[in-house]
Amino acid sequence: MSLRLAQLQELWGQPVTGPLAVDQAELKLAPQAICTDSRQLSGGDLFLPLIGERFDGHGFLAAALEAGAAALIAQAGHLAPASQASVLAAAAAAHVPLWLVQDTLQAYQELAGLCRLQLAAPVVAVTGSAGKTTTRELIRSALAPLGPIWASSGNENNDVGVPLTLLGAGPDQAALVVEMGMRGLGEIERLSRCASPDVAVITNIGTAHIGRLGSREAIATAKCEIVAGLRPDGLVVIPAGDPLLDRSLASVWSGRVVRVALQGEGHEAAADLVGSLDCQGEILELAGVALPVPLEGVHHARNLLLAMAVARELGLEPQRWRPLQVDLPGGRSRRLQQNGVLVLDETYNASPEAVLAALELLAQQPGRRFAVLGTMLELGEQSLALHRSVAERARQLDLDGLVIVDQGEEGAAMIAAATGLSRLRQVDCPEAAAEPLLQWLQPGDVLLLKASRGVALERLIPLL
Ligand code: ATP
Ligand code: MG
Repeated sequence: MSLRLAQLQELWGQPVTGPLAVDQAELKLAPQAICTDSRQLSGGDLFLPLIGERFDGHGFLAAALEAGAAALIAQAGHLAPASQASVLAAAAAAHVPLWLVQDTLQAYQELAGLCRLQLAAPVVAVTGSAGKTTTRELIRSALAPLGPIWASSGNENNDVGVPLTLLGAGPDQAALVVEMGMRGLGEIERLSRCASPDVAVITNIGTAHIGRLGSREAIATAKCEIVAGLRPDGLVVIPAGDPLLDRSLASVWSGRVVRVALQGEGHEAAADLVGSLDCQGEILELAGVALPVPLEGVHHARNLLLAMAVARELGLEPQRWRPLQVDLPGGRSRRLQQNGVLVLDETYNASPEAVLAALELLAQQPGRRFAVLGTMLELGEQSLALHRSVAERARQLDLDGLVIVDQGEEGAAMIAAATGLSRLRQVDCPEAAAEPLLQWLQPGDVLLLKASRGVALERLIPLL
């Protein structure tokens, strides 16, 4: 698996440093040799500078050349004329081809897309409002019997993360699992075209980022862009029973779809794959196999169903299914014991649906139940109503105590909606939540922590 420099010439024309020599044109680059960080560059790599919010790789073109780069890319019109002239002169003197492209990020995606087309392994793309990383990890584990599985790491799901994941895959992977996130229309379309998936999974349509997108309809449209690069004979896996998702998908995809549902939730008739959960929510019975649900909560049983639908599509018959092992990045489904209190650490992030799912999980725990809920960001005009609705649910569940970390209007709306709970406090930062909690909590209690990433609610944990 490799790219020839001649392919770059086909893509972007001749380098500005002059036509490639014959031996240069045949030079082969492994995907891992496409480097965006000059500190990690090895001799013979191609250096492609990206323009970030804080860093601009264009400042390191000369360093990359000195470190032995075999080819350079730069964004046309981006460098000051004097810097560009000096980089060009140095590249020409070293006989290193340099291409000026319209947009280096787009060029990075084009290169990743070319490398992906050389991969024999199937690519699974995962998007949705909540549960992308979790479902990605469940799929990674579900597919393990097929051989080595390559998947996005951390939360690498954007314009840079997706090509990075694709370029990191080696030739011996049995499958790739690529997470795709978005903050607006058009992004997932771009990512999907770059990854050309064989299977696309949409975990759900919620209200995360609704402040940017405006409506659930727009969110559904954006998520369904995942079919843009899907192979024509590819498969879409979705939950059954969401008419909005069904409508949005039908308007862009007429190919195969598998819908999954849990027995007893009312969507069995519309589903192709139905699983039933035992009353403890610990075992999922599916296609005659009893699978342990590796993460607590009904929402994770739904994610597991999606993962098993993918496994079946990629040729893993139920007799080869094995209990899954998942290791999630921090702040998701983490359980800690702090002075005898069970802490449900869900501090990584929060959208209304994820908070509701976490509250249901809390409600199932034995012992007294407490929660710290912080601001959910990027909810736009619906922010107050959505904050109110999660606080109302906390009141219905009759929690033993609730701390709201938000001194603004959202916090006030939550306090109003939760009034009636026996212990209720509003504070302005994670650290300030410690004071009421230390008064309230006793060994044997359970405490849920959940807020948007920007709140950094994990700062509370060492204080408990
Ligand atoms: P991001 O957009 O930040 O990448 P993500 O979609 O990757 O998020 P995860 O990191 O898997 O999502 O999970 C984020 C939160 O959503 C966690 O609190 C998790 O418990 C919750 N969650 C996971 N799956 C679901 C689901 N199916 N429905 C509702 N909430 C879910
Ligand atoms: Mg994620």
